[in-house]
Amino acid sequence: METFGSSREAPPSLPVDAASLSGVVEDGRTRFFNETTETRTHNLTCPKCGQAGEYKVTWVVRRKRPQLPRHADERDRAKFAKAQSYMVRRDDKLSCANIRCRKPFEITSLQSLAFINE
Ligand SMILES: [Zn+2]
Repeated sequence: METFGSSREAPPSLPVDAASLSGVVEDGRTRFFNETTETRTHNLTCPKCGQAGEYKVTWVVRRKRPQLPRHADERDRAKFAKAQSYMVRRDDKLSCANIRCRKPFEITSLQSLAFINE
């Protein structure tokens, strides 16, 4: 699995979907992670016309919290130790930027889940 090692290059004012911010839902996923929605630019090639271009793709990013939540038990501790920051791709399809094509295409060159090293 590929990793995104240079995610710190993201612009400082990332669009954040307030509803998806962590801390709102205290379920298993967000207890260990801070969840944000981020838009990243990727170089993709339209399979219909073959033109490469930069496309904005939306990712749900879950960054591991710096500390375990309080009242964590042993199982939480073990899970938290193994937990790693990751992001899940939210966009599956894009529309081609080539004005003579404009066809929708599926994103096949990007993985749907990527771990983050930072
Ligand atoms: Zn195209």
